[in-house]
Amino acid sequence: VTAIDGERLLAGLRTLRSFGATGTGVVRPTFSADDMAARAWLRDRMTEAGLDSTIDGVGNVFGRSRRPGPALVLGSHSDTQPEGGWLDGAMGVMDAIEVARALGEDPTTADLAVDVAAWSDEEGTYSSCLGAKGFVSEVDPGILADENVDGESVADALARVGLTTVPHIRFEPDRHIGYLEAHIEQGPHLEETGKQIGVVTSIVGIRQAIVTFTGQQNHAGTTPMHRRSDAAVAMFRFGTLLQDRMAAAAGPTSVWTIGRVTVEPGAASIVPGHAEVAVQFRDQDDAVLERMAAAVAETADEIDRNGPVRVIARQGDAPIAPTVMDPDLLGHIADAAERRVPGGWVEMPSAAGHDPMVLSHHLPCAMLFIPSIGGVSHDFAEDSTEHDIVLGCQVLADAVVSILRSAVTPR
Ligand SMILES: [Zn+2]
Repeated sequence: VTAIDGERLLAGLRTLRSFGATGTGVVRPTFSADDMAARAWLRDRMTEAGLDSTIDGVGNVFGRSRRPGPALVLGSHSDTQPEGGWLDGAMGVMDAIEVARALGEDPTTADLAVDVAAWSDEEGTYSSCLGAKGFVSEVDPGILADENVDGESVADALARVGLTTVPHIRFEPDRHIGYLEAHIEQGPHLEETGKQIGVVTSIVGIRQAIVTFTGQQNHAGTTPMHRRSDAAVAMFRFGTLLQDRMAAAAGPTSVWTIGRVTVEPGAASIVPGHAEVAVQFRDQDDAVLERMAAAVAETADEIDRNGPVRVIARQGDAPIAPTVMDPDLLGHIADAAERRVPGGWVEMPSAAGHDPMVLSHHLPCAMLFIPSIGGVSHDFAEDSTEHDIVLGCQVLADAVVSILRSAVTPR
C-alpha cells in the first residue's frame, strides 16, 4: 500500500498559503497577481511530480501523466473567496499533486495514470466554476462576458494575464474514467459526529425565490393605522410565517435563508410602499426542493389574500440541480476510509457548491471531506488539524489505487 508523504504535503500547503497570505487567511481571487503566481508555482510542483504541466487558456493548471489511461483526474480549485481560508480548494489541489507524486515514486503503482487539475475561478470572482466549464465544454461568449465586481470581463482578464491565445486542456473521454476531489467540509457535521472522513454522496441543489410586497407609501405621522398598506409589515409577517412552513416542508438536512431584504424608500418617517426579500433554499433531493418552493409560494399567497398589501413570489437566480456522485467511485472511497479509520467515516451530502456540479455531467465524480475546526470556512479562521489533512490525502491515494486497479482488472 503506497504511503503518501504527509510532511511534504503540509510543507507544500504552507507555501501555497503564502501566495496572498493575509493574517491567518488568504486573499487570492482568480486572475489576481497572487493567483497567477500561485498557478505558476503549482505548475512547477506538478512538473516535479512527473507530470506534463501547463496553465491553459482558462487559467487551469493541468498536469498530465505520461502513463497511458485509464486515468483519473484529481484536483480542486486554487482561487479563494475575497476573504478566504488557506485550505478551501488549496488542500484538494495539494492532495492531488501528492497522490500523483507518491504513486509515481512507488514501483508498485508507478504504472497508474493520475492527471492533476487546479481549476480556475470555482469561487466565481468572474464566473463560478469557469475552469471546470472550460475542461468539459466550449467557453461560450456569455461566460467570456461575465464580469468581476470591478467590471472586468473574463475575456479582458484572460488578455491581461496573457492566456487569450493559449489552448484549453479538454476532457478526454477515452482516457478519463472519473474525477476525485478532497475538500474541507466547511461545516460542523464531521466534528459534531466525531468522524474523520466524509464520503460525499451529493452536492445540494440551490433555489431562490424573490418575493415582492407592494403597499402604499405615505406619511408615518398623519396616516392612521387603519388606513395603512405597509409593505414592511407584510414582509415581516411573511418572514415569520415562512420559518414554520419551511420547517414543515424541509428534509433533515435542508437549509433556507432570507439573506437579503429591502424596504423602500427606507426612511424612519415614511410608511414603506415597497419591500422585497430573497429566499434561498438548499437540499440534495429535488422532491424536497419542490416542497420548499411550494411553501414559499403558498405563504406569499396567504399574506396576499389577507391584504391589503399585494404579495408576489417569483423565481430568483436560475436553480442549480442537486449533483449526485458516482456510487462506484464512492464505494472505493468508503472502502479506503474503512480500512484507515474503521467506523470513523460517514456518508453525507455537501451543502456547499464544488466543481463536480459542472464536471459530473461529463464524467463520474466523487468527493471526500475532512473536518473543519468549528465548522468555519470562507473566513480567515478556517482550519483543520494536520492529522486530518494527512489522513484525508492517504484515503484519497488508497481510493485512487483501488479505482485504477479495478478499471484495468474489473473486480
Ligand atoms: Zn472550495
